[in-house]
Amino acid sequence: MSFEIPGVLWRRDPEVTELPLVFDSPHSGTGYPDDFGFCCPFDVLRTAEDTFVDELYGSAPALGATLIGAIFPRSYLDANRAVDDLDTALIDGTWPSLLAPSHKTRSGLGLVRRVVRPGTPIYDRKLTVAEVMARLEGCHTPYHRVLDEACEGAHRKFGAVWHVNCHSMPSQRNGAKKGGHCPDFVLGDRDGSTCAPEFTNFVAGVLRERGYTVRINEVYKGVEIVKRQGRPAARRHSLQIEVDRALYMDQKTLEKSPGFARLQADITALIEALRGFASAELEKGREP
Ligand SMILES: [Zn+2]
Repeated sequence: MSFEIPGVLWRRDPEVTELPLVFDSPHSGTGYPDDFGFCCPFDVLRTAEDTFVDELYGSAPALGATLIGAIFPRSYLDANRAVDDLDTALIDGTWPSLLAPSHKTRSGLGLVRRVVRPGTPIYDRKLTVAEVMARLEGCHTPYHRVLDEACEGAHRKFGAVWHVNCHSMPSQRNGAKKGGHCPDFVLGDRDGSTCAPEFTNFVAGVLRERGYTVRINEVYKGVEIVKRQGRPAARRHSLQIEVDRALYMDQKTLEKSPGFARLQADITALIEALRGFASAELEKGREP
């Protein structure tokens, strides 16, 4: 049953015959909480969002898939980071458990971000332990619980699940040198560890057929969410998809561009194709 946890997330369930397909958009939330206490300009803070990504995949429930979206913004708490990926320099007091800050945290882009982007701090203060704990318990925990339940439920019912973790990436198009990094899509399966190669290749093939450039595990390999969900040996497949923001929005005004409708239609076609893919894979699984 579809539901919403106010300020945290929503889950939309399949509206037609269900297939074990789960999509989640952890960074498209625009519900900025009153207790955020940031000091940087709001329009700059918002550039951390994967704005509209939940809408790009909005047809998923009508095509028999589950769609989950965060309401809290990524700059408040990043659900795509491990709970121990925390920056002690940001905390006022002593964190009660062991931490394992990644290279992302060291550059200010961890579980709780220190900067919107390098050189632009979010806070002019440290955060209390209680404040960060509240973000973890209020946002990170329920987000992963709801995603776990959706993937586990589908796996229990069908014996397999295909999960897509949906993101967008700042465009490198204008600044990129010739031959630089500016693909339309980047697929990440953490170098083949979070899903079967057939899944990654299928998605790449559908997108390329529709005229897009696709790279795999280049710069964006996938982070915490696909790492947690992906266990291909147990038929739990998890793939990250990054799409270039320049294809669908103005990166300064954060408004949809005329390209939005075409991209949304192509993503709808991708979800339709994935229905066929999942059905065929389930059939294969039934063979003696
Ligand atoms: Zn993202």
